[in-house]
Amino acid sequence: MSDRPLHSVDDLAAAGLLSPSERLRAVEARYRVALTPQIASLIDRADPDDPIARQFLPDARELVTTAAELADPIGDEAHSPVPGIVHRYRDRVLLKLVSVCPVYCRFCFRRETVGKSGALDAETLARALDYVAAHEEIAEVILTGGDPLAASPRRLRVVAERLSVIPHVGRLRVHTRVPLAAPDLVTKERLEALRAAEKTLVIALHVNHARELSPVAKAAMVRLQNAGARLLSQTVLLKDVNDDAAPLDALLDALVAQGVEPYYLHHPDLAKGTAHFRLSLARGRSIYEALARLRQAKPLPLYVLDLPGGFGKVPIEAPHLVRAGDGSWRARDRFGIEHRYEEDAEAPVERQAPNYAFGFYGVEVEI
Ligand code: SF4
Repeated sequence: MSDRPLHSVDDLAAAGLLSPSERLRAVEARYRVALTPQIASLIDRADPDDPIARQFLPDARELVTTAAELADPIGDEAHSPVPGIVHRYRDRVLLKLVSVCPVYCRFCFRRETVGKSGALDAETLARALDYVAAHEEIAEVILTGGDPLAASPRRLRVVAERLSVIPHVGRLRVHTRVPLAAPDLVTKERLEALRAAEKTLVIALHVNHARELSPVAKAAMVRLQNAGARLLSQTVLLKDVNDDAAPLDALLDALVAQGVEPYYLHHPDLAKGTAHFRLSLARGRSIYEALARLRQAKPLPLYVLDLPGGFGKVPIEAPHLVRAGDGSWRARDRFGIEHRYEEDAEAPVERQAPNYAFGFYGVEVEI
């Protein structure tokens, strides 16, 4: 297996793991492609339906954009008072520290926007932190991106040290796939940088399948826990990846065994070129109900839909989400305001055998 970065169709083809085609070249021209050796090592080459491969390898179906899909499917832009900050909920903000990821997940809207500019420049970052300092209602800063653990220790320390002198911020949360996808990046230097914030540290791990919890990933999680971090999990319910109660139950058991608290199960966003990952809300509900039956008295994440337009998350159950007579859905946000949600999950999409590739993409951002 190659140990060099593979983040193009040519790289993947050169490794003998993908048949190049004009359609795949069109995918890479539109969306970033990358996977780490760690993720590549998890792919079962003999399995054409491998759930790890489906999450990370480019697929010609990404060229299909449905009418319902959006460039900004969860409405971040509508809540961005200054560059780098998303202030959707009163007491917490997202700080988009970097725009790169060690892997580019094929179902993620950020695969289109990430990777273009690397990271916030020093001046923009300073202004974003000034915004946090000026808003005393902000109790939690959530580092996101891109993947914030792809940032250099130096850059993480800049953020942490500034937060350490903002008394109204009590909690620093990091949304990341790095411990699973690039565990070597969970270094002593990065952990020390995060601890410099002197805040309650929460790591929200994005993990979709039990097979992602490899021995090296578990070791990275233990390093985070030993640094005082509380670990939560976030999972996206993805068609042909984990869309059944049994794999989700196995994932949750494995997470709980590692001391990770199940937090959210996300319905897939209306990201461009991701219809082949979306299942219907009705099917998602029935999987979640079966999962709840399997997990009686065991921790269960909350199944949620992130509303387009920036209206936040709603639980996928009545009375928060109900079917309307015309087949669309009516979602009631946290303010009690009703929104129409049109799904396209039943739209026919072309199905094709996945192209498997193995690669390496290590990334650090030093600005
Ligand atoms: S932001 Fe997270 S989910 Fe999206 S491509 Fe990067 S690692 Fe994957």
